[in-house]
Formats: sequence, C-alpha cells, structure tokens
Amino acid sequence: MPLHVSQHPLVAHKLAILRDKTTEPKKFRELVRELTWLLGYEAMADLATRPEPIETPLEPMTAARLEPRVGLIPILRAGLGMVDAMLELLPTAEVWHIGLYRDERTLKPVEYYNKLPDAATAQVCLVLDPMLATGGSAAATIDILKQWGAARIKQVSLIAAPEGARTLEAAHPDVDIHVAAMDSHLNERGYIVPGLGDAGDRQFGTFAGPASEPGREPGDEAAAVVRRLQRNLEG
Ligand code: URA
Repeated sequence: MPLHVSQHPLVAHKLAILRDKTTEPKKFRELVRELTWLLGYEAMADLATRPEPIETPLEPMTAARLEPRVGLIPILRAGLGMVDAMLELLPTAEVWHIGLYRDERTLKPVEYYNKLPDAATAQVCLVLDPMLATGGSAAATIDILKQWGAARIKQVSLIAAPEGARTLEAAHPDVDIHVAAMDSHLNERGYIVPGLGDAGDRQFGTFAGPASEPGREPGDEAAAVVRRLQRNLEG
C-alpha cells in the first residue's frame, strides 16, 4: 500500500496547531519543521543500511550506516520549509530544485525552473510539499525525476486530499506517499478542506493579494479540474 497516514499522536497534536487559523507564521514554520522531522523519520524507516566496522571506546563492533544517497526535492515554494528539517535528519542529502507553479486558472503545473544534472546522483528521492492537493505538481515532478533516472521516490506531505492521493497513486503506483493526515476534499479553487489554507502564505507571511485568498471566486477551469478529479475518485 503506497499511502501511509501517520497514526502518531504527536503528529496529530502538532497538526492541530498548524491548522489553526490563529497560528502565526513563526510558529507555523516551527511546526512545519517538527512535522517534517516526524514524517521524515517514518518515511525513511525502510532505507537500506550497510554494515560498517567501527570502534567504540570499549571494543570494535559492526555498526549500520545508511546506504543510499538521498535527494530532497522541495516543490517550490511551500516545500522549502521542509528542507532544513530533512537536512537535520540527513545532513549529507543533496537538495535539487525543480520549479513548478500551479496555474491558478487551470490548476495545472507549469515548469519554470529545473536544475537537475544530466544523470541521477541520488538513489532515493524525497519529494517535499506540505499540501498534496490535486496531485498535479507531485505527479509532474516525479515524471521529471523518473526521466532523470531516480530509482526510488517517496512523496512526503503534511496534508493530502483524496483527489490528489488518487491522482498520484494512479500516475505513479510505485511511489510511497507519507502524510500526517488525509482530509475531506478539495474545494472549487483546489484548496484542501478543512486543510490549513495556503501553506506558502502561512509560512512566509504573504497574505496580501487576491490570488492568496482561499475564499476568492473560483475560475471555471479550476472548478472543472476539481470536479474531474472528484469524478475519478468516485469512479
Ligand atoms: N496548496 C496550499 O497551500 N493549500 C491547499 O489547500 C492546496 C494547495
């Protein structure tokens, strides 16, 4: 089963504070970091280790060291808030940037930046995005990573919508999805409900402007995309 919803009470507790609309950006960023540690820990539970002889102050022993090189791919911009926490867990991880933005009208991902080298340098890639909403950006990022040669890919998100999880599972059934919660649905603007609002705005304090307001009137195209995803889910 590629979908893993954390059952840990600490995760649930921190997520409750994260969702609360009165939680300010500083606290919000701290919680994203702490939740990323906890989900990262769960997501990496099956990484391979290799035996390595070491000497403790008492005697030689064979210890275990992490085997694969891990790549972190934050989905810009909200995924950036998850990078430092992952690097604290995995200081030698490589961080690769692929820039996709979600067209607010069509909800489709549009690539605007790609700094991957010619060949894959990491054996395990963790795609980081706090919100797995339509699943479009995640699926498109993973398409790019697979073309790059990434062998194993995991998606780590704080909250998923069923529509997004289904889209990602259908496009990439081999990709494990680790989330703190599976919410109810997407609204007509592609926001996860009940969710937490715009994860980028809440981390970076950028609340100005109509494009950032979850209550804004939905565009017809965005609403049509959400309806199609919801039909896929029912069918
Ligand atoms: N991106 C967000 O930041 N929030 C959502 O609810 C959906 C996508």
